[in-house]
Amino acid sequence: MENMEISPDDRGFYGQYGGSYIPELLWANVEELRECYRSVLSDEIYKAELEKLLKNYGGRPTPLYLAENLSRETGARVYLKREDLCHTGSHKLNNVLGQALLAVKMGKKHIIAETGAGQHGVATATACALMNLPCTVFMGKKDTMRQKLNVTRMEMLGATVVPVDSGSRTLKDATNEAIRHWINNPDDTYYLIGSTIGPHPYPDLVTRLQSVISRETISQLRDAGEKGEPGHVLACVGGGSNAAGAFYHFIGNGKTKLTGAEAAGEGVDSEKTAASINRGSTGVIHGSMTLLLQNGDGQVLETHSISAGLDYPGIGPVHAWLNEKGLAQYLPVTDSEAIEAAFRLTETEGIIPALESAHAVALLEKITFEPGSVIVICLSGRGDKDMETYSTYFEGRGRSDTPKQQKV
Ligand SMILES: *Cc1c(COP(=O)(O)O)cnc(C)c1O
Repeated sequence: MENMEISPDDRGFYGQYGGSYIPELLWANVEELRECYRSVLSDEIYKAELEKLLKNYGGRPTPLYLAENLSRETGARVYLKREDLCHTGSHKLNNVLGQALLAVKMGKKHIIAETGAGQHGVATATACALMNLPCTVFMGKKDTMRQKLNVTRMEMLGATVVPVDSGSRTLKDATNEAIRHWINNPDDTYYLIGSTIGPHPYPDLVTRLQSVISRETISQLRDAGEKGEPGHVLACVGGGSNAAGAFYHFIGNGKTKLTGAEAAGEGVDSEKTAASINRGSTGVIHGSMTLLLQNGDGQVLETHSISAGLDYPGIGPVHAWLNEKGLAQYLPVTDSEAIEAAFRLTETEGIIPALESAHAVALLEKITFEPGSVIVICLSGRGDKDMETYSTYFEGRGRSDTPKQQKV
């Protein structure tokens, strides 16, 4: 099931956004992928193998859970699409399994990936352990020190983690290093990108692999007895992959309002933000034309978000385009609003969300809806990785003295 509303043109453009702005030396690698990705993704054997993996290994379909306590509080029918219950704890596995299988079909012998906080690196190392593929993950030196546990996970899974000591020693530099490696090893290496970013065809490839989220949501809403289209779908946007997947089959239906949460950090007008749609301007980052945070000279700015997964200066080109067309809207959510939403979801439903996903939950306070409307929130990941951050806010919050009304 393909939604032609969000297919880029042959050169990977969504309007003015997207495309493939890459050095000459990468051309052959990207072209090889561009030529085969659509035919592999629609191949019946590939589809059957991927579906089997997603089901038996990944834990799909993930539940669509009617959050009754939260629904009662908000006056809507709030459903949570539980990507947090995927193996490795987030939606990232959907993309990683699909691309690793694609790499095998292309005859590639070695997987490389970039990672920031380590979530995409762990998911990639997981798929590579499963498929017996050597895996190298490039990670900024600063991030390897901040995220030691994820480095240990990747190494236990058999991956080689390469600390990158250049630039700001974070995600941007890790990405540059991965690209350099790819240029030098074009024949046997597959570059497995973690979001709807990068040169064409990656944004479209990752969007298609994540579209399983909205495909399942549609049939699960029907099974739950909901008639027609949901009123709203909410998701957080870092590079934009879980949002693209959660929106995919609803885009352009004229009924479902699609809203993405951008990380505003300390405020969309502050210096410490990562709101690339609300604050950014048009430019090229990591191979595609999109909206990004840059200064007057086109230098990419340092970003800030409390959640590592949203702390990225650009945005997938598909979202820049959906925003421009008015097919989706993107609202800024601050660090403190996300923290509040995380505690609220934990206290009302017993679900500790990832900090990224908490940004999507916070949108409940920002959108307008009719009483009783159906709202689907993509709960992209679980909060285990964020417990250290949460614990610093937990102190001093205390619990209220008055017992809460009994629920359910
Ligand atoms: C990586 C990550 C994100 C952000 O990535 P997208 O490509 O924007 O989806 C969001 N949520 C979780 C849990 C993540 O791990």
